[in-house]
Amino acid sequence: MLLTGKTAIVTGGSRGIGRAVALALAKAGANVAIIYAGNTAAAEETKQLVQDQGVQVLALQCDVADETAVTDMVKTVKDQFGSVDILVNNAGITRDGLLMRMKAADWQDVLDTNLTGVYHCTKAVSKLMMKQRHGAIVNLSSVVGETGNAGQANYAAAKAGILGFTKAVAKELASRNIRVNAVAPGYVETDMTAVLTEAAREEMLRSIPLGRAATAEDVAQAVLFLVSDASSYITGQVLNVDGGMVM
Ligand code: NDP
Repeated sequence: MLLTGKTAIVTGGSRGIGRAVALALAKAGANVAIIYAGNTAAAEETKQLVQDQGVQVLALQCDVADETAVTDMVKTVKDQFGSVDILVNNAGITRDGLLMRMKAADWQDVLDTNLTGVYHCTKAVSKLMMKQRHGAIVNLSSVVGETGNAGQANYAAAKAGILGFTKAVAKELASRNIRVNAVAPGYVETDMTAVLTEAAREEMLRSIPLGRAATAEDVAQAVLFLVSDASSYITGQVLNVDGGMVM
């Protein structure tokens, strides 16, 4: 198994892409801490699926935008599993709307969760990883962070911010054998995209050369690669998992 004995924190691990990542890492042998915002039923369901892979699992409610809560969460995981070897910054939200109508609260909520949350979790975990002298971090960005998208100025800004953050931190942590990469999915069928109209969905599909939406598992396999030793010489990179949408 690729990740036997390793410990992974997956934020937003209760549903969608995060659930698929938690499962893929567990199948590869990692113990997994699933971090979620408030949907306890989904977190418990994912916890059971992960446990069924024969690894240890924790499900912890923690708002990634809250620095103190994140510090406590990372300590709980370290105390329970002994180390933190892998961090997948996947938690994310949308509050879409055209700029002229975007409320300051919708701007702030998206930046707080999608970007500041990545800062909090990476900072807390990298302290441990620096002492261990190894670690792998993957940040979930989006093609929208590369191309922009009307109606998503807040989300695109946060996702573009993640790309700069990934490269800066990759440079800071490389000498301690800690790799930091980003995955930029295109259109993935999850609760987040279930709100799209049929017309928007069809338009999106027309822009994908591979002609289909991604599954959460498509994204999870890219994350698995980037946290495993199969990518041991790769850091500071952005891996698009978008069916060819952006090229
Ligand atoms: P979902 O909406 O399906 O799941 C979001 C997850 O994030 C849930 O587990 C949720 O917890 C958790 N979460 C939300 N806010 C917080 C918070 N403040 N603190 C901790 N956890 C939180 O999202 P997806 O699976 O679709 O997306 C996952 C990531 O991939 C996001 O970063 C998203 O931006 C990105 N992405 C998604 C794409 C898509 O097409 N779906 C495309 C490109 C990128 P709870 O269950 O408790 O609510």
